Order: sequence, then structure tokens, then C-alpha cells
Amino acid sequence: MTMANIDPALERNRAFAAAGGHQGAVVFPNLRLFVITCLDPRVDPAHFLGLGLSDAIVVRNVGGRVTPGVINDVAFIGQIAENVLPDGPLFEVAVIHHTQCGAGALADDTFRRQYAQRIGAEESTLREQAILDPAATVTRDVERLRSAPAISRRVTVSGHVYDVVTGLVQTIIPAGHAGDSSVA
Ligand SMILES: [Zn+2]
Repeated sequence: MTMANIDPALERNRAFAAAGGHQGAVVFPNLRLFVITCLDPRVDPAHFLGLGLSDAIVVRNVGGRVTPGVINDVAFIGQIAENVLPDGPLFEVAVIHHTQCGAGALADDTFRRQYAQRIGAEESTLREQAILDPAATVTRDVERLRSAPAISRRVTVSGHVYDVVTGLVQTIIPAGHAGDSSVA
């Protein structure tokens, strides 16, 4: 029998279930927090934000970028939350980019051209996905969410940078409502 890469993780799952780790989990996040961040294994919010089960909704992709798909995900959760909470604030979306992000590779012409060909995408769109200055890109993505018509104005959006060397998160854009400008 060959060993699958997931086997050690499945072993941990059995220990998790046996210890009742899943009990008490709820569907609406305890912190009323929706985190968008990078899929880099160094950038796991369960660790650097100390998130426990049910604490937050987390979406991770290359760079932690606010893509049209991510906007739809936030809109979807917003619509569910509106049905549960008739008025008042719904939740905060925290966009967190990080230092040393691999999405910087998209700034390399050769890499970007190959990748564009591989996925059948426009090269110019991919250039915008590159992360070289996480404070700048997170500011742009907060703006993207705040200006998206699909996002309820009862949702707040904030922007942060996680430093993989110090382990610290720095807030770049404090929480504000959709429709607010991120520029002070
Ligand atoms: Zn990254």
C-alpha cells in the first residue's frame, strides 16, 4: 500500500474528531470576520491571527487578491447575513497581503507570459495581480471591495500587511464601510 500525502493529516483528523474538536462549531463566525489572504503556507490565519474553529470565514488564493470571484463570495455571505440580521453592521472583511509574496513572480515577464498561456488569460490582467508592494496592492483591493455594488454597505472592509519575518500584522486601511473611500 502506498502512502498518500494526505495520510498524516487524516491521522490528525481522527485525533481531532476523537477529542471532540468539532463540537460547538457554529455557521456564523464568532468574530464576525471574513479574512481574505494568500495561500502561502506561512500565511495561515489560524496561526498568525490565532483563529479557532468558527471564528472567521477565510478565503485564500494566490496573493490574497480581491478577484471577481472573491467579490461574489463576500456578496453571497453578505446576503445570508442580511437575512439573519435585519439591521446594523454585518461583518468586517479583512484583506491581508504579505511580505515576500510569491505573487511577485507575476512581475517577471517570462514567468507571466508562460502562465498567461497556460491558463489562457490576458497578460495585462496578470500583471495587475503581481504583489511587489503589499501595502499598495492591499489598498487597491480594499478600494475594489468598497466600490463593488454587490457588497452591502453594512459590511466594513479593512486592509493589512503581514510581515513573514516579524510575524506581525500592520493595519494599512482601518475598517470602513463599503462606499467609503480608503483615501483619507
Ligand atoms: Zn503570498
